[in-house]
Amino acid sequence: MPLFEFKCKKCEKKFEELVFSSRKEPVECSHCGSKETEKLISTFCAGNGSSKSAGQCNAPSGFG
Ligand SMILES: [Zn+2]
Repeated sequence: MPLFEFKCKKCEKKFEELVFSSRKEPVECSHCGSKETEKLISTFCAGNGSSKSAGQCNAPSGFG
């Protein structure tokens, strides 16, 4: 599932939102409704198959 974590710049709360590739509208904060949000880096490696160094990745060992 394309679940991303966002942080609101207005109330500085974090929330998760399902974002599909076809969606272009800014994500609204689920707490205050502000559209001043930024997408946070996921805790998992984001589909970069060329990455071989596991040092920067939180993926469980043996993944892939
Ligand atoms: Zn907010």
